[in-house]
Amino acid sequence: MEDENCIFCKIVKGKIKSQKVMETDNFFAFLDANPRAEGHILVVPKRHFVTLLDIPDKLGEEMLNFIKKIASDLLDKKKGDGFNIIMNNLECAGQAVKHAHIHVVPRKEGDGMHLFV
Ligand code: AMP
Ligand code: ZN
Repeated sequence: MEDENCIFCKIVKGKIKSQKVMETDNFFAFLDANPRAEGHILVVPKRHFVTLLDIPDKLGEEMLNFIKKIASDLLDKKKGDGFNIIMNNLECAGQAVKHAHIHVVPRKEGDGMHLFV
C-alpha cells in the first residue's frame, strides 16, 4: 500500500523522477540523489514498509536475491571492485526516509572511504 507522503512510494510510482537502475514486480532500484560514492544505488520494495522487520520473510528473501543481482551487475560492469550493503533502520540508526531501503555502495581500491573498517 502506498503512503501518500512517502518520497520512495512516489519514486516507485514515477510521480518523482529517479534514475532507475533495475526493476522487478516487487522491487525498484535507483541512484541515490546524494551519492556517497559514484554509482551509489538504493533498493526499495515497491510496497511501503518502514523497516526490515516489517518486510515479510518471503519478500525479504526475494529482496536479497535482487540485491545480489544488482551487486554482481555492478562488478561485471566494473563500476566497483567491491561493494557495501547498508541498511539504516529507525531514526537513531540514521534512517531519514521511512520506507525500507538498502544502500548498495560501490567501492574501489584506495577510495579512502571508511565505514566499519
Ligand atoms: P537513509 O539515511 O538510509 O534514510 O537514506 C536515505 C537516502 O535517500 C539518502 O542517501 C538520500 O540521499 C536518498 N534520497 C532522498 N531523496 C531521494 C530522491 N528523491 N532520489 C534519490 N535518492 C534520494
Ligand atoms: Zn513508501
